[in-house]
Amino acid sequence: MTHQTTCCYCGVGCGIVVKQEPNGRLTVEGDKEHPSNRGMLCSKGMNLHYTVMDGSDRLLYPQMRFGRSMPLQRVGWDTALERTAAIFKTFIQKYGPDSVAFYVSGQCLTEEYYLVNKLIKGFIGSNNIDTNSRLCMSSAVVGYKLSLGEDSVPVCYDDIEEADVFFVQGANPAWCHPILWRRIEAHKTANPHVKIICVDPRRTDTARSSDLHLPIRPGTDIVLNNAIGRLLIENGFVDADFVLDHTDGFAAYREQVMQRTVEEAADLCGVEAEAIQQAAAWIGRANGFLSLWTMGLNQSVVGVNKNLSLINLHLITGKIGTPGNGPFSLTGQPNAMGGREVGGLATSLPAHREVTNATHRAEVEAFWQGPVNIAPKPGLTATEMFEALAKDELKAIWIINTNPMVSMPDANAVEKALKKARFVVVQDVSSRADTVAFADVVLPAAAWLEKEGTMTNAERRISYLPKVLDAPGEALPDAEIIWRFAQKMGFGESFNYTCASEVYQEYTRITAGTNIDVTGVSYELLKKHRTVQWPFPEQSKENGVGTKRLFADHRFYTANGRAQIHAVPDGNASEPTDEDFPLVLTTGRIRDQWHTMTKTGRVAKLGQHIPEPLLQIHPNDARIRGIREGQLVLVQGRRGEVRVKAQLTEDVRPGLCFMPMHWGKILNNNQVRANNLTNALVDPRSKEPDFKFTAVEVKPYRKP
Ligand code: SF4
Repeated sequence: MTHQTTCCYCGVGCGIVVKQEPNGRLTVEGDKEHPSNRGMLCSKGMNLHYTVMDGSDRLLYPQMRFGRSMPLQRVGWDTALERTAAIFKTFIQKYGPDSVAFYVSGQCLTEEYYLVNKLIKGFIGSNNIDTNSRLCMSSAVVGYKLSLGEDSVPVCYDDIEEADVFFVQGANPAWCHPILWRRIEAHKTANPHVKIICVDPRRTDTARSSDLHLPIRPGTDIVLNNAIGRLLIENGFVDADFVLDHTDGFAAYREQVMQRTVEEAADLCGVEAEAIQQAAAWIGRANGFLSLWTMGLNQSVVGVNKNLSLINLHLITGKIGTPGNGPFSLTGQPNAMGGREVGGLATSLPAHREVTNATHRAEVEAFWQGPVNIAPKPGLTATEMFEALAKDELKAIWIINTNPMVSMPDANAVEKALKKARFVVVQDVSSRADTVAFADVVLPAAAWLEKEGTMTNAERRISYLPKVLDAPGEALPDAEIIWRFAQKMGFGESFNYTCASEVYQEYTRITAGTNIDVTGVSYELLKKHRTVQWPFPEQSKENGVGTKRLFADHRFYTANGRAQIHAVPDGNASEPTDEDFPLVLTTGRIRDQWHTMTKTGRVAKLGQHIPEPLLQIHPNDARIRGIREGQLVLVQGRRGEVRVKAQLTEDVRPGLCFMPMHWGKILNNNQVRANNLTNALVDPRSKEPDFKFTAVEVKPYRKP
């Protein structure tokens, strides 16, 4: 048997052909017909089948604890869900609906996201749902809203082959979005005039393959982008007609960027002024200017301003909405986009509606016909949830397919919050998730290939994922767990689903008339056309493609149809360094691991690339601290410490060190969880944490 499906790792959303032999053995290969990857797969995708074939750590049955110090015991689904419903109802009755929360994941399918959102916002009456996507892309969401009027990625992957200048800022696609990077490299090989500019304090594989690497000081992205903006203005690269006809805010922007000379900016960024001039010249002359970014911009206390400063470069040059031109925030997770579409953030409602907008609330209430009004104030965001648990303001949390014990900033505080929480439900595939240890109720979920549903990749492309295998034990699809729970809560009439297709059809109807209209999309259509891009209005049914590129008519989603250029100050408000903590730690991903390794950790082959956690530090910084290559070092910050081996490399700037974020708390009796060190500072508008800037000190580790 052969099945076409989609990779469940990153936001590239590669098509995969799964072959199932009569003995049950699975193989995977890239789907040559899939428009995103054209048959290619990266190391993670090529080994994806092992994550379902190795069942050694699978959660197989619902489990409950009958007291905090008691061990988990196997129970039936009815017992687990009825007890959870009883506890949720008690808290809601006693402390109000905001006493409970759901913390979900960009790995959830669209149907699952939609259902949890409907349950808590429409029926429980709280907006306390947030997602781990808050940790990676919420600054881009706010940046798009402020500049383009809505959270809408304007470009598509085919723009890669149309572009001649790539501006990669705060991203390492060579490792984290490898198939897109291969498309960029192939395009450059065929077209030697194509230029790649990489902005990153680290010399990553992306930086090594670029024509120009700008290794800026951490936190100075806005200084750089404003300096490029100034040069574009001074050198006549502004598209005056576009600015006049389709944007607001240019005069204030001009005034802002003129405040600093390019030499001053270069000094602050720690790069040569000539390099900034070169970047600006390439961007200005480009026929196709594509900017790509991820966590380096988003995971910052000024993440929204960083996004705006980059989008501004497209708006002042008019390089948006045409082939090869546009800002392109790459999503880290496979369905971070789908979660945004169904409103799976504490601030939003389905189809990019907002909880603070009375008209939007009324539209959704009328559609859901719930027994309660949707609350007008945003719910708790990711970091706020764990802070509220610690203060006992939040009583119960239900965590779905994510591992906050490892992935959240200031993980020691998260650990304390989970210990203090009155009631924790963990719904997951694997016992590898460190968070399972803190659960009062554990619910076993079906994995990739074991459930059907849809996901949306970084270019707004919706893919259908078929069910290929039965889930082991009593594991259930996440959507079914939620609708069964909603029935136990007494909302059966509105959660009377029998399959994921019914949920999806309901979701598509709520998008009618919005900018992400997918009313014409059904499972049948997706099975026929494989994938489509939203918006997909009724008339798209004929071509079965949808909309490749947004804003081709240069009408934006703002109230007046004009894009907004924002003058953004170039300051950074990250945790300050000082004599005790003079180095800046930045955290990130490595090529062959995914998030907190609950999936990739099962695949031995993927552990060969970088087998253990490490700290990259510049040789000069190592020398003055007496640190040798491979030596165990103690990395200390204001909230915690880790012990890892040092790797001396000039790939990081002096003053900077780097640690991968994947490893959990305990390995070889060393503390290796990078998020012991990070802080819970967030961007005030996006609430995205500042993972890329933590003040630390490093010294050789000596046994006490
Ligand atoms: Fe999967 Fe992303 Fe690799 Fe494609 S690039 S195979 S989606 S991990």
